[in-house]
Amino acid sequence: MLSGHYDIVIIGAGVVGCAIARELSKYKLTVAVLEAENDVSMGASRANSGIVHSGYDAKPGTAMARLNVMGCAMYGKMCDELGVAYKRTGSMTVAWDERGERMLQELLGQGVANGVPDIAILSGDEARELEPLLSKDVTAALYAPSCGITNPFQLTIALYENASENGAEFFFNAAVKKISKSGDVFEISAGDTQYHSKYIINAAGIHADEIARLAGDDSFSIVPRVGEYILMDKDALLVTRPLFQTPSAMGKGVLVAPTVDNNIYIGPTARDTTDKGVYETTAEGFLKLRELARMTVEAIDTRKQITGFAGLRAVSGEDDFIIRDFGGMIHAAGICSPGLTSAPAIAQEVRDILSGMTELIEKEEWTAKRIPIPKFESMSDDERSRLIYENPAFGHVVCRCETVTEGEIVEAIRRGARTLDGIKRRVRTGMGRCQGGFCAPRIMEIIARETGLAMTEILKDGEGSNMVVAPTR
Ligand SMILES: Cc1cc2nc3c(=O)[nH]c(=O)nc-3n(C[C@H](O)[C@H](O)[C@H](O)COP(=O)(O)OP(=O)(O)OC[C@H]3O[C@@H](n4cnc5c(N)ncnc54)[C@H](O)[C@@H]3O)c2cc1C
Repeated sequence: MLSGHYDIVIIGAGVVGCAIARELSKYKLTVAVLEAENDVSMGASRANSGIVHSGYDAKPGTAMARLNVMGCAMYGKMCDELGVAYKRTGSMTVAWDERGERMLQELLGQGVANGVPDIAILSGDEARELEPLLSKDVTAALYAPSCGITNPFQLTIALYENASENGAEFFFNAAVKKISKSGDVFEISAGDTQYHSKYIINAAGIHADEIARLAGDDSFSIVPRVGEYILMDKDALLVTRPLFQTPSAMGKGVLVAPTVDNNIYIGPTARDTTDKGVYETTAEGFLKLRELARMTVEAIDTRKQITGFAGLRAVSGEDDFIIRDFGGMIHAAGICSPGLTSAPAIAQEVRDILSGMTELIEKEEWTAKRIPIPKFESMSDDERSRLIYENPAFGHVVCRCETVTEGEIVEAIRRGARTLDGIKRRVRTGMGRCQGGFCAPRIMEIIARETGLAMTEILKDGEGSNMVVAPTR
């Protein structure tokens, strides 16, 4: 069996694990990140609303409320450093009647208590001035100007790349199966390797309760809560900011919202499940979403749907994030929404807990900036010409829906992408109307050429999702 020795082992490479890896890479520590899947951002961090919440939803006094507002305030600088798209759009939560308006007043009170800047209640007409297509039945809206939108998987990938550049080591297909302790050193078995570390950070998403139990902590459990989405084509562009409906005990309510890449989506639904491995969408879920979306925007044309997807929220019984130490294992668990928003603040919280256990010494050199992959689609003609002159592969458009070039695909592969969806999450191939129907075979050829993988070895996404099984002739 192989072995590796580190100061810290982080389990899970979602947005939380990667944000923690980046934060800890600022210090003189050896950090390993163990990820069960073959890439980063394979759990909740790839299938969520991508909203940087302002922070009025969480109960005042909770870690969730505090880290949400802190995280939201950190987004502009973080995304700028990492070259990740982020727009501070503001959001509205809408009501249609007195009951809803009372709820908006409660949310306003929570927002003020949580320190959310500049939130205010608008009348229906004031709200429609900002969002003209908002339903005429909307009578009031809670406006939160600090809310924003981002691309959750591109952020996770950027955090990973930057943490790696600063020395954190990532290991994929490394599912942690066993944890034991010898003296004050953890022994962590993942795949065919035994990792040793003094501290573990548990950032395993919906599996964080299982990781805790491996270390002898059964103080919490995680219930997955499915959220289904409808994603619409770019020509359905209708609204300019996230439009929430009043929340319930199950979540923040169904949204009609833009993505940073100018699609519109509707979602998420909220349904508890016992199965941690099922990401299915359902006809019932879609029907419900269409019906609810029309209450917010009557004119929404749901025939513009190009795909659907589902994510699993990691809901614990504690009604708050679980960020605490258990004998050298620091949990970052139960990180349901607003976990994407809170991730940079959670990383600092974990760092602070760790600094109470061991001395953290800053490195003399640490690189905050990450150079993103050039985005051909949003370049001017002059920029495009220059890029093609330097590298002709940028003159060859492979994904026509999203105008993604061979140069971008090759760069994604160079940075570690090996699957069709890994490339898709990095450069948006297959994200458009045809959903990869036309470009997938061409991208497979590029993966095979660049990596030496046989066509039969190329995966769509996780292990076992081979695109083709054998030549037909
Ligand atoms: C439907 C939905 C909508 C949401 N909307 C928003 C939103 O708009 N804004 C917001 O702020 N938040 C939102 N969230 C919450 C946000 O997505 C999550 O809080 C965040 O992605 C959690 O990140 P994570 O890293 O903790 O978990 P994950 O991204 O799930 O990562 C956990 C990782 O651990 C790995 N892992 C698990 N077990 C093991 C093991 N044994 N060994 C090694 N690795 C393991 C998994 O493979 C996975 O990659 C939403 C969530 C959902 C599901």
